[in-house]
Amino acid sequence: MDRHNQAIDRWVRPEIRALQAYQVPAADGLIKLDAMENPYPWPESMVTRWVDRLRSVSVNRYPDPQARTLKDRLRTVYSIPEDVGIMLGNGSDELIQLLQLAVGGPGRTVLAPDPSFVMYRMIAAITGADYVGVGLRDDFSLDVETAIAEIRDHNPALVFIAYPNNPTANLFDRAAIEGVIASAPGPVVIDEAYQAFARQTFMGHPAMDENLFVMRTLSKIGLAGLRLGILTGPRAWLEQFEKIRLPYNINTLTQVSAEFALSENQVFEDQAEQICRERDRVAQILEKRKELYVFPSATNFLLLRCIACDPERVFEGLLRNRVLIKNLHQPGTALEGCLRVTIGTPVENDTFLGALDSVLESIDG
Ligand SMILES: *Cc1c(COP(=O)(O)O)cnc(C)c1O
Repeated sequence: MDRHNQAIDRWVRPEIRALQAYQVPAADGLIKLDAMENPYPWPESMVTRWVDRLRSVSVNRYPDPQARTLKDRLRTVYSIPEDVGIMLGNGSDELIQLLQLAVGGPGRTVLAPDPSFVMYRMIAAITGADYVGVGLRDDFSLDVETAIAEIRDHNPALVFIAYPNNPTANLFDRAAIEGVIASAPGPVVIDEAYQAFARQTFMGHPAMDENLFVMRTLSKIGLAGLRLGILTGPRAWLEQFEKIRLPYNINTLTQVSAEFALSENQVFEDQAEQICRERDRVAQILEKRKELYVFPSATNFLLLRCIACDPERVFEGLLRNRVLIKNLHQPGTALEGCLRVTIGTPVENDTFLGALDSVLESIDG
């Protein structure tokens, strides 16, 4: 390996060398509550019909580069207005990358609340843009005055707002976001990855005629393995972004499977409702523990802060009990002491709660 170092230092751009690769921990044999996945399987009859559908797929042919059938289905299921365009990505991660390739890059600034979804910042670094994180208030609400001042100072080419926000789990105030949209000089992307749980949306907002884009993903409702992200917004802008999209970025199996799954969308809506009920049950139980603060959540996860416990020891203790959550603790940051747990099935959640009890007691004692 060492023999490569000199050449790597010479040729790999410094901003790439400085990056930490996005870490996905191994989860074999663990109860996986770290990545906001839907824990529920499909009904057996639905699996049968899906597999039947896949039988007729011609994998020797390239996919439909426009994914027309899938887009028609998305337009219906997500009430995307006729005059609004749709661009699909291999996950919304790819859309965040496409947007930044189109309007970000060297000499440009990308702005988002902080803390927020890590990919906004990471892709800004990869593409050589400056990144401005607008600090949230202590309760993780969005301070519209600060956001507008930062927009004036930095003239961002692109603004991302996750609604609800990850990892803070809350919905920002709608009027605050409208203030940001009105003052932003360029595109504003409302990332609605958790829309199924929050049931709030900017879809159809009048600013979609101007600079507003609404982004969705199928990942959090239960199709993370298919990798499908959806960007909706003004058609004229999307025509430009489409030039950067690789022609076959949405493979045939994803197109067919997503179209099929969304034709039975009630299954996912019911599962989302079940997850929300479980979230509220788990939150109520956690709120009784004096060691923790539980942030309000409009998502399928809970953000916890250790106020009288060591977050590293809690995280490691849970792992020893075969429960994987996300450790967000970074001393001196807004996420100091914070842990994020995805809502699983009732059995998984009870296992998590039981493991947490024993970990907190062993730390106390
Ligand atoms: C999970 C998540 C995404 C990424 O979704 P993919 O479609 O799986 O790439 C985007 N934005 C937010 C806020 C998320 O939490």
